[in-house]
Amino acid sequence: MKEIREKDMKFWNSRLRKAAEYMPGEQPENLEQYIKLNTNENPFPPSKAVLEAIRAAANDGIRRYPDPTAGAARIAFAEIHGTDPENVFVGNGSDEIFTLLFRGFIEPDATAAFPYPSYSLYATLAQMNGIAYDTVPLASDFSYRMSGFLKKKYAMVIIANPNNPTGTYCPLEEIRDFCQKFKGLLVVDEAYIDFYGGSAIDLVEEFDNLVVTQSLSKSYSLAGLRIGFAVASRGIIRGLVKIKDSYNVDSIAAAGAVAALKDRRGFSYNREMVIHNKEYLEESLSRLGFEVVPSRANFVFARHPRVAAETIYRELKERRILVRWFNAPVQSSYVRISVGTMMELKTLTKELAAIVEVE
Ligand code: PMP
Repeated sequence: MKEIREKDMKFWNSRLRKAAEYMPGEQPENLEQYIKLNTNENPFPPSKAVLEAIRAAANDGIRRYPDPTAGAARIAFAEIHGTDPENVFVGNGSDEIFTLLFRGFIEPDATAAFPYPSYSLYATLAQMNGIAYDTVPLASDFSYRMSGFLKKKYAMVIIANPNNPTGTYCPLEEIRDFCQKFKGLLVVDEAYIDFYGGSAIDLVEEFDNLVVTQSLSKSYSLAGLRIGFAVASRGIIRGLVKIKDSYNVDSIAAAGAVAALKDRRGFSYNREMVIHNKEYLEESLSRLGFEVVPSRANFVFARHPRVAAETIYRELKERRILVRWFNAPVQSSYVRISVGTMMELKTLTKELAAIVEVE
């Protein structure tokens, strides 16, 4: 994105001026010339049934407004997860749900907290909404230390489980234990949960201070469709419905979501391929001498003992392979590499071998 000049901000309020901008992974214009392993997308296409449903939904009916709460998608999601559609909210991606939580579920003078390193959007959204926040460091092996969130009075804690960018997972026992002790709202962002399982959705019945979010962007190969879900008590769902835009999920996306959720075979097949390739990626990196953080997601966080992560990122980019490198504390010594197709991963491995052996 282009640099912002003072005159561009003429009509911005002070909060907007001050907030740091969320930096999405690079999306180069000549995308097809790159191997793109930098934004944790799924390398495989959505199933045929999903694409057909999306095409079929692009009909005359589009002149009508969509169902305001995407009821059919709520029912399909609830059925898979053994919950009630009344406990399910559909958002324009899970990112929208985080925005709504900041907007309506925390007082302006209260404080939120997130782990570090984690998904940087949480901090951006807190700033955009004028909410103060703390970060609680992960342990040196990147495991969660939930007790760190009990040291101060936080109104809202968001954890990504598995975490981005580390791929580490917080066991459900720890989440249960935390919900019992914590007085505020715990949001568990499960954008990557489907690959290895272990969702906290079942805990929602037990705790009214728990919101679990999931996404169709990763395990369902539908990042472009923008569908995310929240599971929570009826009161929280009611609040989310009250604060959202009237028609936050369009009818084409809703139709695609229903088809994707119903196609269990397509989902399992996709998931198995991603897991297979992720394991191949981990093995290849280990063979090249990388230290690989054990991941339960569709990406790995790794560093090389001799070659700086920034060098690896730049050298790969020159060879038209994009991985993610964050110029930030702790993270700057690692690269995060998303799972690709087998062909992409073989090319990556070959190029990495040249980079780390030459250096
Ligand atoms: N949560 C985490 C931890 C993520 O890494 C991402 C993807 N960048 C998201 C949420 C975004 O999910 P969605 O596409 O559903 O908005």
